[in-house]
Amino acid sequence: MKILCVAKNYVDHAIEMGAAKPPSEPVFFLKPDSAMLQKNMPFFYPDFSTEIHHEIEVVVRIEKLGKSIEERFAPKYYTSVALGIDFTARDLQAKAKAAGQPWAVSKGFDGSAVLSDFVPLEELGKDANNLDFYLLKNGVEVQHGNTNKLVFNINHLISNISKFMTLKTGDLIYTGTPAGVGPVQIGDTLEGFLEGRQLLTCRIK
Ligand code: MG
Repeated sequence: MKILCVAKNYVDHAIEMGAAKPPSEPVFFLKPDSAMLQKNMPFFYPDFSTEIHHEIEVVVRIEKLGKSIEERFAPKYYTSVALGIDFTARDLQAKAKAAGQPWAVSKGFDGSAVLSDFVPLEELGKDANNLDFYLLKNGVEVQHGNTNKLVFNINHLISNISKFMTLKTGDLIYTGTPAGVGPVQIGDTLEGFLEGRQLLTCRIK
C-alpha cells in the first residue's frame, strides 16, 4: 500500500507557502505505510522537530488496480472518502527545500499520515469534487476548504498519478490542503469535519 500526497493543490495554500501560483502539473510525494495514524489515536510530538504543522486534507482510497487511467474513468476507482492530516515537520522541510533534498523525512515520519474512517460518497450524497471540510484546533477553526477549489481535481489526480505509478487497491491519495496550515503543540486537540460530520479527533501528546 502506498500513500500519495499532493502538494500545493489549493491556490490559497500555494500562495501562503510563497509560490506565485500553483504548479501547472500535479506535484506529488509519498509517505510510507508506517506513517499512518488511525482510530483517533494521539500524535506524539517527535523530538527531531520544533515546528510540526497540521494540513487537513480529503483522502481518497483506490478500490481497484489501474494503470494509465483516463480521467473520465477515474470515478470507477473510488467510492468513499476520508479526512486526513498530512503532518509536516516544516523546519525539516524548509531545510530540505533549501538544500534541494527530498521531503521523505519531513513528510514521512511516524504518525504523519492521520486518517479517519471512510464514508461512502453515496451516503454523503455528494460528488467527491464538491466536499466541504474544515479543521478545528482547540475548538477554533483554522482551516476550511472545499474540494471544488482543488487546482487538480480527484479524477485528474488519479489519471495523472497512474501514468507514472500503478494504483493498487488500498492506495491512498491525500488530495492537498487549503490555506491556514500552522503549528501544533503538545496539549492541542485537532478535530476534522467533512460535510458537517466530525470524522477525526487527534490529540497532540
Ligand atoms: Mg499536504
